[in-house]
Amino acid sequence: MKYILPLMRIALFLLLLFAFASLLPSCNSPKPQQREFRVIVSILPQKYLVDRLSGGNIPCEVMIPPGGNHETFEPSPRDMERVSNASIYFTIGALDFEKAWVERVKAVNADLQIVNTSSGISLIEGHSHDQNDNFSVDPHTWLSPDAVKIQVQAIYQALCIARPSDSTVFRINLEKFLHEADSADNYITNLVAPFRGKYFLIYHPALAYFAREYGFNQVSIEYEGKDPTPLHMQEIIDLAKEKGIKAIFVSKEFDTRHAETIAKQLNARLITFDPMAYNWTENIMRLADLIAGSMNNQLTP
Ligand SMILES: [Zn+2]
Repeated sequence: MKYILPLMRIALFLLLLFAFASLLPSCNSPKPQQREFRVIVSILPQKYLVDRLSGGNIPCEVMIPPGGNHETFEPSPRDMERVSNASIYFTIGALDFEKAWVERVKAVNADLQIVNTSSGISLIEGHSHDQNDNFSVDPHTWLSPDAVKIQVQAIYQALCIARPSDSTVFRINLEKFLHEADSADNYITNLVAPFRGKYFLIYHPALAYFAREYGFNQVSIEYEGKDPTPLHMQEIIDLAKEKGIKAIFVSKEFDTRHAETIAKQLNARLITFDPMAYNWTENIMRLADLIAGSMNNQLTP
């Protein structure tokens, strides 16, 4: 009788062991085909937003490589392969290549969810127009704190739907980023307050949203998306002389020869900025520093 209890215990143990083993997948059974959750974005500053929300825990590819020109970029077959591996594509929504390639992107990955992060932003009319004389939309929405706060929330909402188990982390990270964007906005508002209503010259007009938010007038050397005509060059030089403009903003992906010609005539300096830097917060504050610095000696409008 005294052996029965231990024997029953062994039997129960074996029973539980077999029951447990049957729950484990067998070595021969095929693994479920679960694709890794990945996202793709058009430009590097958007990757910063995704990384901030995910804490760097979601693989995120960027379509336009470092140094690439966002106006002339065309995806390669390798880029289409990267798109085919992604679950969500966060677009800026108005870049030329996005508009031209969206159908081809859908063809390589029918399951891909395309999220236009500029949806909900009050868009500015672009300076170029197509064959049908329709004006384009200015795509540079990421260079404005107001607009980026809308963009990061579009990314947040899509990530929460795709990965509900991580939504608490996304929420905490969103709050942190929004707080940081507000701090940057306050910094810029105070910095540029003395310069409201002033003009800045720029080769490629990437700062229309920034100018709208902080009350500047952007004057583009490019004319309708192309190199300036001699007449346009002369108009810019006259305006710059009238306003006492002593700086021209250029970004390195663009041909700066026309900007250099005008700079020589005005005895102005070229200021290089990077519209595509990864760390969006640092970059937008640096941009404000450059603009405020360029206006210190400008005449009163
Ligand atoms: Zn542009």
